[in-house]
Formats: sequence, C-alpha cells, structure tokens
Amino acid sequence: MMIDASPLSADLLARFCAIVGDKHAVRDSDEKAPYLLEERGLYQGRSPVILRPGTTDEVAQICKLASETRTPLVPQGGNTGLVGGQIPHHGEILLSLRRLDKVREVDPSSNTMICEAGVILANAHVAAEKAERIFPLWLGSEGSCTVGGNLSTNAGGIAALSYGVARDLVLGLEVVLADGRILNGLSKLKKDNTGYDLRNLFIGAEGTLGIITAAVLKLMPKPRTVETAFVGLASPEAALKLLALSQSHAGGALTSFELIADIAVQFALKHGPGLRAPLSEAHPWYVLMEISSPRDDARTLIEGALEAAMEAGLVDDAVIAANLDQRNAFWTLREVISPAQKPEGGSIKHDISVPVAAVPDFIEEANAAVVKLIPGARPVPFGHLGDGNIHYNVSQPVGGDTADFMARWHEVNQVVFAIVLRMGGSISAEHGIGVLKRDELPDVKDKVAISLMRDIKAMLDPLGIMNPGKVL
Ligand code: FAD
Ligand code: ZN
Repeated sequence: MMIDASPLSADLLARFCAIVGDKHAVRDSDEKAPYLLEERGLYQGRSPVILRPGTTDEVAQICKLASETRTPLVPQGGNTGLVGGQIPHHGEILLSLRRLDKVREVDPSSNTMICEAGVILANAHVAAEKAERIFPLWLGSEGSCTVGGNLSTNAGGIAALSYGVARDLVLGLEVVLADGRILNGLSKLKKDNTGYDLRNLFIGAEGTLGIITAAVLKLMPKPRTVETAFVGLASPEAALKLLALSQSHAGGALTSFELIADIAVQFALKHGPGLRAPLSEAHPWYVLMEISSPRDDARTLIEGALEAAMEAGLVDDAVIAANLDQRNAFWTLREVISPAQKPEGGSIKHDISVPVAAVPDFIEEANAAVVKLIPGARPVPFGHLGDGNIHYNVSQPVGGDTADFMARWHEVNQVVFAIVLRMGGSISAEHGIGVLKRDELPDVKDKVAISLMRDIKAMLDPLGIMNPGKVL
C-alpha cells in the first residue's frame, strides 16, 4: 500500500515553485481542479501544487530537487489516460508537461519530426501534414492527449493494424531521469546497434521510470487514396474471414478493421449527436474498414474485397463512404460508442487482446460467462479486430441498480480475464496498468518478467519518487 506523500514545508514548496516561476506553479484550487480529476470522473487526486515547466532544463531541475528531498512526482500530459496513472492519488506534486509544446523540427527527407512531450497529438498531425506526411497514430482523444502521454502509455488507436502502436513510431527519446540527469537519445537513426535499447524502457512505462521530454517520431508518406466501408455481417467469425480476405486484396494498405456489436451501434445512434444508421437494416455485427493506398487504387481494392466477400457469403450488406462527410460520419459513430455507454447506466470495462484468430471464441465465451454471472448484463464488445484488441465492456441490466452492478467490477474482471489468459491474451492491450489493473498484474504476468521490472524500477528510481504506486 502507498502511504500519503508527506506535506511539503513552505520552504520546499517555494523552491519547487521558483524553478518554473510563480506564474507556472498552480496553487489555486479552482485552477488545479481540471488536472486532478480524471476524464470520466473515476479518480479524484490532490496535490499541493501543479508545476508547469517550460523547458527540459526546468524538468531536470525539478527532478533533481525531488530526488534530493525524496519528493514524489506524478507526470501528466493531456489527462486522458483511462487507468488513473496521471492522477496524484496521495498528494504528490503534479508535473504537467503541457507547456513543452514545441515541434522542434520536421525533416521530410529523413521522414522524422521532433516533438516535445506536451505537443497535443492533433497538433503533431498538423505539423506532419504541412510537410505532406502523416504521423499515423489516431486516437479518439487526439484533441487533448499529448505525445509524451502517447509514448508513456504506448497508445494504440485505429490504424495500429498497418502502422503499428506508438512504440513502432519512435526513433529516439529525450528523457529526464529521477535524479535530474538528461538522457539525450534524440537519434534519427533507424539502424543503430550500439547496445541495449534504452528508449523502449521508457515507452509504456507510464511515467514510473523517468520523464519523457521530447521524441523523434517517424513520418510516413500521405496516402493518395483512402476508402472507408461500413459492413453488416452475421458473426465475428464472418468478420475474421473478411479480415483475411481484405488483407489478401489490400495487404498493408488495409489500415483499419474495427468490429462492432449491434448493441454498440444502437447505443451510439440513441445517444450520439444526430447520427444516422449507415445501413438500411440492422445486422448482428458490423465492420468499419479502411484502405489507404499510396496509389489511386483504394476504391478498386475495397470494392474487390467486398465483392469477393459477398460472393463467399461473408457479408450481408455494405456501403462505401461516398465522400469525406460520410467517412467522418462512420468514424464519429465508432468514436461515440464509448461515451454512449454512460447513459445506459453502469459499465464494467475491459481492454483486452487475444490472438486475432481467437477473437470470435473469446467473445462467445465471455458473453456466456458474464451473463451467467449477472443475468441480464449486456455485453457491448467492439474494437480493433485486426489487432485482436477488443474493448469488452459490459453494461448493467436494464432497470437494475447501478451501484450494485458496479460493485461487481472485480468479479466480472476475474471471469473475463480467466478466459483471456487461457487464450494467451493480455489484460491491458492499449490503456496500460496505472492503478486500475496494478493489483492484477502480478497474477497474470510472468514471474521472472515482474521481477525484472522491479529491478529496473529500483535501478532507475531507487528512491521511488517517479509516479509511485503505479504499474508495480
Ligand atoms: P495522461 O493521461 O496525462 O498520462 C498517461 C500516463 O502517462 C500516466 O501514467 C502519466 O503519468 C504518464 N505520462 C504522461 N506524460 C508523460 C511524460 N511526458 N513522461 C512520462 N510519463 C508521462 N488509448 C489508446 O491507446 N487507444 C485509443 O484508441 C484511445 N482512445 C481514447 C479515447 C478517448 C475518448 C479517451 C478519453 C482516451 C483514449 N485512450 C486511448 C487513452 C488515452 O487517450 C491514451 O492513453 C493517451 O496516450 C494518454 O495521453 P495523455 O497525454 O492524455 O496522458
Ligand atoms: Zn481502442
């Protein structure tokens, strides 16, 4: 168990504030409030001060002082994390990286871009676009999440199928260590075999090993043509076959392949902002797929895949977006699924992955197990089928008591995680461990891996001041 961070003396608080200047040391309760509350209201933190450094050097000075005085720090980017990792639960100092918001360089010839940690993901997209490139990491939270947060959580998103996850999109990192030393690894090299890969330690570490202050990100060429289809089908098995067929038609140009249960679409249509059903009739399952090609052939590829799927009896109905507005409407429908579960009452959430081929069995077994445990519970599975990553959420029974249902969060997790583990899957595919899944981690992770993780933590953060109580 974590104990509360000891209250800071007025003198020490003043020394921390002096590093960033009073203007950037937030101490007013109203101003602090948005940093301390997690997006969905699941976690409320507290902190004596929110430090907003403007340079890597200021971050280094903060860490040095924190280390000398054993003062715990919680790093935060856009505060969109879904596992409580960015919240100071025990009165720690909150270190907001948002003022580190410069795109230091865009180098289209090397296909790289150097972003500071606080650059909002959507702004990174704009910078890439100006150079006729893309930075292919797209998340529903891209208007507020930051590059530093994306790397610290190793974010996934809707195009990981083709472009990979955040880890795959980084060449180098600048990191401030717990003792204030700056690790300068802002390398643009693809090929550099000079020892251990330190960069990958900090990616996905959720701020427990050091503070990422800047990164060399990979850029990709802009696709010439993009086509998006909304497909109705009978089952996850049919969707899996459609995935294989589409990949054989389009190869790496198949950039997204999202599976959505009908109940998720119903929730989105009911609670979303003026959305229309893409297909004239309801189907048990849907796939939202996208092909992005460097040539002019995305239309031919998507039509070819869908025609072959129709002939094979895999697809019941399909519509290809006629224009950008329609494409955006398809994606809005997908993005609205998460917030649309809220008006339906309590929702117990899982962010799991299993081998792609196991997804249909996983959904079938999890549905049966959850409904057996809580009769009337409504599974709402949706997610990135192409990555084997399903957001397996469970809404409460209609008319049931929300508090009673939510009290069974852990029990439902246990039932679902048992199936995931049996299938060789992961209990956290995209969102990380934070505090939400910290207590489960030792039960599901290889014992040697956990022990190595603890050793690495002790080596890089011997005083335990970097985001204490998270992950481990
Ligand atoms: P924060 O929430 O501020 O922090 C997240 C973690 O990283 C914390 O542990 C924090 O301490 C640490 N951290 C932050 N910045 C730094 C830094 N510079 N150095 C060291 N540690 C740091 N996630 C996905 O993977 N895929 C999705 O598709 C997706 N969709 C989402 C949609 C919505 C609507 C929402 C609300 C969230 C979604 N998320 C998704 C989760 C979240 O947006 C991602 O985890 C995102 O990468 C977090 O970025 P952030 O800047 O908000 O980080
Ligand atoms: Zn996701």
